[in-house]
Amino acid sequence: MDHKALVAEAATYLETLQGIRRELHQIPEFALELPKTQERILGSIKGLGEITLGKNLNSIALLIKGAHPGPTVLLRADMDALAVQEDTSEDFKSTNGYMHACGHDLHMAMGIGAAHLIATHKDKLHGDVVVWFQPGEEGHDGAGVMLEEGAHMVSGNKPIAAYGIHVFSAMLPNRVFASRPGTMMASAGDLIVKVHGAGGHGSSPWMGNDPITPLVEAISGLQTFLNKKLNAFDPVIINVGWLEAGDTHTTNVIPETASFGATVRTFSREHFAKVRVVVADYLDGIAKSYGVKIEHEFSNATKVLINEVDAVARIERVVKDTFGPQRYFDMPTPMAGGEDMASIIEELGGAFIFYGAHKPGVDFMTAPVNHSNKAEFDDTVLADGAALLAALAFDHLGEPAA
Ligand SMILES: [Zn+2]
Repeated sequence: MDHKALVAEAATYLETLQGIRRELHQIPEFALELPKTQERILGSIKGLGEITLGKNLNSIALLIKGAHPGPTVLLRADMDALAVQEDTSEDFKSTNGYMHACGHDLHMAMGIGAAHLIATHKDKLHGDVVVWFQPGEEGHDGAGVMLEEGAHMVSGNKPIAAYGIHVFSAMLPNRVFASRPGTMMASAGDLIVKVHGAGGHGSSPWMGNDPITPLVEAISGLQTFLNKKLNAFDPVIINVGWLEAGDTHTTNVIPETASFGATVRTFSREHFAKVRVVVADYLDGIAKSYGVKIEHEFSNATKVLINEVDAVARIERVVKDTFGPQRYFDMPTPMAGGEDMASIIEELGGAFIFYGAHKPGVDFMTAPVNHSNKAEFDDTVLADGAALLAALAFDHLGEPAA
């Protein structure tokens, strides 16, 4: 399948895809339950292939069977919005208290466009394509639930690669595709720490057991301690987002407990495991010296997103051949955000792609970023994004497997 022909064909879909994206933008839904979003997508993929809906979430797995036998490739579009009150000047802006501030409405439109391109040319496909519409990317592990439900197995074969695109309202030049071999995004998870002391009178702390001082020591010492225990060339980020202790109306009471919550970012499987051991040791030491009990829990962690080298080479070649060398950017470093696409790539292989979609006329270095209530996206990028997803599927499955 000629990739440039796909781009030309996708261009004829542009208005339709923009229309779908803007409709989806006005009905943003949260987490794993997205019935309206699911229904809207189903309306646009009728007749393209076999559809399997999720059991515990409003997912869609669309199976497009190629005319020739061969392996399966998976394309993924996420569906969920954020609990953000939109403050943009778009005439199709959301008014229901949620907002597609991360551009997942564009991902769904690109997934729909790619599905149409692939189904139209399935006579040239040596294998099958599964298109995933996935809820719950924003910290709800929708990818994990879909994998658990076997939504990747709808062709009867485990896919040999997965590809997905993420748009950015800032930070990348418009229409530029970016990726990198190896680690592309961090594991992002929570660390919750609770110190149990004993209540008492603030005048005589030696008679109670103050939980606040060991908590503060844990917060201030943790980053320094990690520096001494973990290789500095494989960074670990721990940033405290909340802390809770005592009562703001009193200063003369020693509370029983104190706690904090932090986000933890790691960039390798090795440090994902090791930071858990090192933090446990460190908190143990503080608990012993102060005679308090410290409970801690690591939770909600995405996996480190590690792109397959071969898959990134394919993306780079296809983008450069199809759109020109200036449309590909080789990211020098990973980014510290997390993504549950990491679970899909860990299970199936493949790679993730970033895609510049800032509004024309704004400086992409200073434009409101994804998740901001002011984030705006240029949806004229949809046709090329759909074409790239389809081109990657055809590139992978266009020839009979050797
Ligand atoms: Zn996102």
